[in-house]
Amino acid sequence: MKVVFHEAFYPVYAGDPAAAAGRMEAIMETVAPVADVVEADFAAETDIARIHTRVHMEWVKRQGVFETAALAAGGAILAARIGLEEPCFGAIRPPGHHASTDWAWGFCYFNNMAIAVARLKAEGKIDTAYILDIDLHYGDGTVETLGNKDYVTIHNVAAFDRSRYLDEVRKEMESCRADIIGISAGFDNHLLDWGGTLETEDYREIGRLAAAAAKGCNGGCFALLEGGYNHRVLGENVLALMEGLSGM
Ligand SMILES: [Zn+2]
Repeated sequence: MKVVFHEAFYPVYAGDPAAAAGRMEAIMETVAPVADVVEADFAAETDIARIHTRVHMEWVKRQGVFETAALAAGGAILAARIGLEEPCFGAIRPPGHHASTDWAWGFCYFNNMAIAVARLKAEGKIDTAYILDIDLHYGDGTVETLGNKDYVTIHNVAAFDRSRYLDEVRKEMESCRADIIGISAGFDNHLLDWGGTLETEDYREIGRLAAAAAKGCNGGCFALLEGGYNHRVLGENVLALMEGLSGM
């Protein structure tokens, strides 16, 4: 399975947990041996401007993270384009689902998912998109940027109980009809992470459900890294989701 990544995601770029030392290493040490790693490229300013205001882009520049954030957004676009052909995971940071049109919080700068989906739509590669957000936290930025677009359906999984959580994902995936399914893949709901809810195997099941839903629609699917802060389990959780997306 293809994993979009860039070595520029390794360095610490801020003082928050998403930017912590060792986080991307924990993922790549586990997934690189079994993945086909594809290098991310920068998003063009026109791609970012499809979602964010110039004022917001200037703010990101002032934070000193524009290049890293533009590379993450470009990685998201690449993962989504690959996702049209085969399941793909974007091992990118900073994350994006708390980034709105003209502001951002929660360790996010640009809304990678929104930028990627809007690019596919602008290119005419999709008519409809479905975004499943499995992060512990509500993806307010994705809802703010894409929630008013007729072509996008967004679902933030809300259940706090493990079996209800999986039931909710199953129900959503069974009724989902879209040309592309994008998973905002936060792993902070894991038992050993902040949320304390999901087992590693549950990420495999979520991946399987999304891949099956995409296949049922003759569509594609991809996932983008959002949260997930326990480096001891992050790699195996990402791998489980990837394997599920690959039908394993
Ligand atoms: Zn989160």
